[in-house]
Amino acid sequence: MAELLEAVERVARRSDFILGDEVEAFEAEFAAYCEVDHAIGVASGTDALLLTLRALDIGPGAEVLVPANTFIATAEAIVLAGATPRFLDVDPASHVVTADAVEAAWSESTRCVIPVHLYGRTADLGPILEVARARGGAVVEDACQAHGARYMGRRVGTIGDAGCFSFYPSKNLGAWGDAGAVVTSDPELAERLRLLRSHGESPRHHHRICGTTARLAGIQAAVLRVKLRRLEAWNDARRRIAAGFTAALDGTPATPPAPVPPGHDHVFHVYVVECDDRDALRRHLGGEGIAAGVHYPRPIHFQPAFAGIGAGRGSLPVAERLASRILSLPLYPSMNRATAQRVVDAVASFAETSAELRAA
Ligand SMILES: *Cc1c(COP(=O)(O)O)cnc(C)c1O
Repeated sequence: MAELLEAVERVARRSDFILGDEVEAFEAEFAAYCEVDHAIGVASGTDALLLTLRALDIGPGAEVLVPANTFIATAEAIVLAGATPRFLDVDPASHVVTADAVEAAWSESTRCVIPVHLYGRTADLGPILEVARARGGAVVEDACQAHGARYMGRRVGTIGDAGCFSFYPSKNLGAWGDAGAVVTSDPELAERLRLLRSHGESPRHHHRICGTTARLAGIQAAVLRVKLRRLEAWNDARRRIAAGFTAALDGTPATPPAPVPPGHDHVFHVYVVECDDRDALRRHLGGEGIAAGVHYPRPIHFQPAFAGIGAGRGSLPVAERLASRILSLPLYPSMNRATAQRVVDAVASFAETSAELRAA
């Protein structure tokens, strides 16, 4: 905490509030961490996605493929860019989008696919990239839940044309407010993103294109620089706690996440189990003082904001079914053994109660 407050004070004393030295330093450090040429700090993960689509000239008339089970922002960015989202179903085991679904949905007007590394689990980028490249389309990775995860040895976000990150406080790398970044190895795309995040301005008072206010704040960059140094250790802790959960939950009514295939990774932004009676499990855990969440209770094509987008009920059966079965158990890097054990014990006592109910 002292280190973070010191970093914030340093920015405040210099009044370096918007972009500036801390942002440049964070961008260089985050790019180095991701092993990529460019990182562009922006105001949020949503802005990262929106500006990337705009920088790629994806707008009116273009269709963008996106999984139906993600945070709403992935789909919103497509609409905000003026393009049309087309929702994809997902793999029942991994809950992430597959190359087969991308291939089946690709149409004449498809320009881009946004694979989401949901919960911190890597989507199968190799085959997805192959499908998109063969059709001249772009791949924008939504890595907002997967900071630091590796796919076939490379950091997520750096494998598609661009990778988008959110540093919302609860993410694996979290700021003290809203913040985000885009990473890319394409220098022209990086330049366009730098213009778009700040009114298309370069040099001062010369506006090349219409951009917006979507800059990373100096205070957030200062906080992120301190926390970035701990990200690897935090992700390791998340993986270790998750492995403990998975070993303990095997055979209980709470089915643990599917194993991670070779070359894939999972940084457990959230630890999601599946349960036939999810709501009963959630209530039981609540009674034991354990707050479990649902990510996400409604697939996006069921959200009022996306009514009329064309995907009806029953059209994406896996995503629709998962929404009623998934439960996110609490998991955070500093979770101690006793707390982790309480979570596991509470699931075990649910298993006993439901077995007794069945017997009665
Ligand atoms: C958090 C998140 C976003 C949006 O990030 P914000 O910083 O909240 O705008 C986008 N996609 C996914 C998958 C996320 O989890």
